[in-house]
Amino acid sequence: MKQKIVLATGNRGKVKEMADVLADFGFEVIAQTDLGIESPEETGLTFVENAILKARYAAKVSGLPAIADDSGLVVAALNGEPGLYSARYAGVDGDEADALNRRKLLRNMADIADEHRRAKFVSCIVLLRHETDPSPIIAEGECSGVIIREEKGDNGFGYDSLFFSPEKGCTFAELETVEKKKISHRARALAVLKQKLSK
Ligand code: IMP
Repeated sequence: MKQKIVLATGNRGKVKEMADVLADFGFEVIAQTDLGIESPEETGLTFVENAILKARYAAKVSGLPAIADDSGLVVAALNGEPGLYSARYAGVDGDEADALNRRKLLRNMADIADEHRRAKFVSCIVLLRHETDPSPIIAEGECSGVIIREEKGDNGFGYDSLFFSPEKGCTFAELETVEKKKISHRARALAVLKQKLSK
């Protein structure tokens, strides 16, 4: 029988992406929402702390191993903003959040010169074997880019249309989903996770 593992996210896309990787290692992924588990308050100051908080809570409530991720956009010239607050940068949740977040980012970066507009997407995935696991598996992935001055591209979500990837020569919102999935911070974190699980 497969080892069950709880994924501390309600996002269906993420469940599928992680389930595919973890299935190769004998895990059966269950979304925490399917067990009625809600996310705890994210009180950490780093992506890794928040991922640990979410995984630990899911492991505690379910009694199963748990995996969680936290991600966001980090802009060096803004001291790391929007960072942990990427999802709610403009102070709202829901459907309009992404557009308002992008507008706020452009406003806050209006006076920042082109050569100082470097940014990175970060994804941190944490796997806890049980609630009190003292040595979690931690996998991080990053993608470097530049925040441009106006939106380009219609694909993706969040800050994709403002994130120019020098590697690809376009914004993340101009990439096809399959292309973005190959090089994204999440894909890179998943590759590290895979490497660590196979050890
Ligand atoms: P979460 O880790 O899914 O909560 O993501 C946090 C926030 O970071 C999202 O709501 C987006 O605003 C931003 N973000 C994370 N990954 C991406 C991405 O691949 N593209 C654009 N924005 C992203």
